[in-house]
Parts: sequence; C-alpha cells; structure tokens
Amino acid sequence: LASRDFHPSDTVIKIKDVEIGGDQLVIMGGPCAVESPGQIDEIARLVKMSGGQVLRGGAFKPRTGPYSFQGVGVEGLEMMAEAGRKHGLLTITEVMTPEYVDICAEHADILQVGTRNMQNFDLLRKLGTIQTPVLLKRGFSSTYDEFLNAAEYILAGGNPNVMLCERGIRTFESYTRNTLDLAAIPALQQLSHLPVISDPSHGTGRRELVEPMCKASVAAGANGLIVEMHTDPDNSMTGDGVQSLFPDQFARLLQDLEKLAPLC
Ligand code: PEP
Ligand code: MN
Repeated sequence: LASRDFHPSDTVIKIKDVEIGGDQLVIMGGPCAVESPGQIDEIARLVKMSGGQVLRGGAFKPRTGPYSFQGVGVEGLEMMAEAGRKHGLLTITEVMTPEYVDICAEHADILQVGTRNMQNFDLLRKLGTIQTPVLLKRGFSSTYDEFLNAAEYILAGGNPNVMLCERGIRTFESYTRNTLDLAAIPALQQLSHLPVISDPSHGTGRRELVEPMCKASVAAGANGLIVEMHTDPDNSMTGDGVQSLFPDQFARLLQDLEKLAPLC
C-alpha cells in the first residue's frame, strides 16, 4: 500500500486548511518538549508569526536514559492543544505506546512516531485503527525498505494518512549527532506516494547546520520540515537545546524558504 506502483499519484493529507504532500511546503516548528503553559504559548505565537502551520512539542519524551526528563505527560497535551487553538496552528506530538494513542489523538492533529519506535509494531497496528495523520520517523538504523514496511503496518490497518520523516541515521561521523540522509527524500518519493518531511534538527544535532540542511531538503523535494525552536535553548529541559533555533533564526529561515517554495 505504501508503494507508488499501487498508488501512482502523490498522497495529499488535508488537515483543516493545510494540505501536506501537495505543491506547498508545510513547516512544523516548536520545542523538543512541552515544558509549561507559558513556554508553549510563547513559542506557538512565534511559530505562527513566522509563518509556520504546525506546532510541534513532545509531552511524552523517549529518552535514551531512564533518569532523564521524560516529558510532562498528559498535562503537556492539554497545554499544547490550548496553544494551538489560541494561535491557529495544527499540532503534532509524539506517542510512544498503544495505550496512549487515543488520548494523544484527542489532543493533537498529527501523531509522531519517534525513531526509536519505528518498529514498535503494536503501536503501528494501533495507529492503523484510527484516521489521525501519523508522522512516522525513520529508525536511525533502518533501510528504506524497513521504513516503508513500518508505514505499511499503519496503512494495512486502514489509516491512509501517513507521512514519512527522514531524521538522520547513525554513521561513523561523530561531529554531527546523526547523518541526515538527503537522498532518502527523493528515493522515498520515488518508491512511495506518501509525503516526505525532513527533520534537520535531529538529523544534524547542531543549530548552525539546521538552516542549510532545511534548504537542501527543500531543494531535494521535501514536502515539509520539522524544526526545533526554543525561546531559551540553553535552558531547555531536554538535551536538544543545542540543535534548537532561536526565534529570530526560525523567522529568517521561513522568509528564506518562502523564496524556494510556497508555504502552506
Ligand atoms: C523529537 O522529535 O524530539 C524526537 C525525539 O525525535 P526522534 O524520534 O527523531 O529522535
Ligand atoms: Mn528533540
């Protein structure tokens, strides 16, 4: 079902007035994690003012270490939904377990499956039973074939609203956190009809590389970008401050991107 042979035309996912997978670029911006009502409200305001369409933010965080901040949980979903409503943005948040799919879907417009859960088959199966759009991140050591098979689980369950997200893979290079696989963007679009979103924040792990890799992703044909932005990156509650743009950088990035492709 994920294959272009099965479905020759591009899949366009329409959420309210935003069409993902068409000719326009969708921009998802926001913090790694929802931290407080004030934090997410202020960042939502900045995302909207800069021209973004979707507010990102994790309420449940898949942390490598069990003692790291794990997210604020269900309250975070409420904080983000409120900020999205107030500022007229769609919202995307990560869901980690099948039990939380329904409550996350009640609060967010798009559900994110993180790189560590790309092959959490119970989660994928559960996401196949609803119609909420899913942004499926590529596992950091997964091939395109494994990635498309993971998408297939959701599609096979009956949910056609799947976006693929390239977020960098593990290589021998240690300067960057991951290696953003730019070739994945056109390759996945050739193999599949699903929209492809690029995540240069996790794909590089370095703020100064996010802007050039966003532009490169658009040049490679990405249907959208997901970008971390924080008002106070140095004091963010996850380690992702180092890859988060400052609000003024985010605003400038969107101005530049608009010259490359129309935004949604
Ligand atoms: C995130 O989007 O903050 C995140 C944890 O992403 P990934 O699953 O790609 O590491
Ligand atoms: Mn993050």
